[in-house]
Amino acid sequence: MYVDYHVHALGHQGQPYREELLTPFLFAARERGIKEIGFADHDEYLEYIDEGVITSLKEKFPDLTIKLGLEISYRPGREQEIKLVANSFSFDFLIGSVHDLEGWMFDHPAYRSGYRKWDIDELYQLYYDVVKKMACCGLFDIVGHLDVIKVFGYRPEKDPTPLIEPVLQAISRAGLVVEVNSAGLRKPCAEIYPSQDLLLRCYELDIPVTLSSDAHTESDVGRDLAFAKEMLYRTGYRRVAIFTQRQRSFLWL
Ligand SMILES: [Zn+2]
Ligand SMILES: [Zn+2]
Repeated sequence: MYVDYHVHALGHQGQPYREELLTPFLFAARERGIKEIGFADHDEYLEYIDEGVITSLKEKFPDLTIKLGLEISYRPGREQEIKLVANSFSFDFLIGSVHDLEGWMFDHPAYRSGYRKWDIDELYQLYYDVVKKMACCGLFDIVGHLDVIKVFGYRPEKDPTPLIEPVLQAISRAGLVVEVNSAGLRKPCAEIYPSQDLLLRCYELDIPVTLSSDAHTESDVGRDLAFAKEMLYRTGYRRVAIFTQRQRSFLWL
């Protein structure tokens, strides 16, 4: 069973949700055997989300399960604002993602030169400190692209395992789901988020997972999820987490 729990209908453009805008994503899901699709636009486009559009598409695509989520950019100190954002619609799930560090959008190609200013090990430390704070804040259901700090292929010089272990422990304690996000395969790091090593440690800690493409266009819906599913299966996973009104349940892979 394929689910795709991280689809950006708006890409990076502010425009209201319309049936004509979302429909191509649903046709793509149907074509690629995705049974459950979760729209999760960036919270900066919150004002463009329209639950009515989702309701009417559910009627038009009875063979698909359509969920409404949101990908929220976490940064320390933003918790109160995030609480308001989370309550603005009846979301099925919330993805928490770290996209910037001290105001620098480290995962954005336009700001890639910023890596030169950092000691890479200190940067990894800071990134995982922020992810840990996110896991502990209690506001999210899913951890977005867990090791996205590798996006441009800048790898730490020291073994990052001691940095990441407390993060995974916090994720496990908080009962969060980690998404297995295929978008990393389309980036310079050319690797799924999270890496096989991290995924194995998630499995050992009994951390549930879900599947996502992080598609920003309909052509990327479900992309490489067969590969991601194989990776899950190889690691030992047999189920993926799904959400309805922020209540978690599971589907067999
Ligand atoms: Zn993201
Ligand atoms: Zn995303």
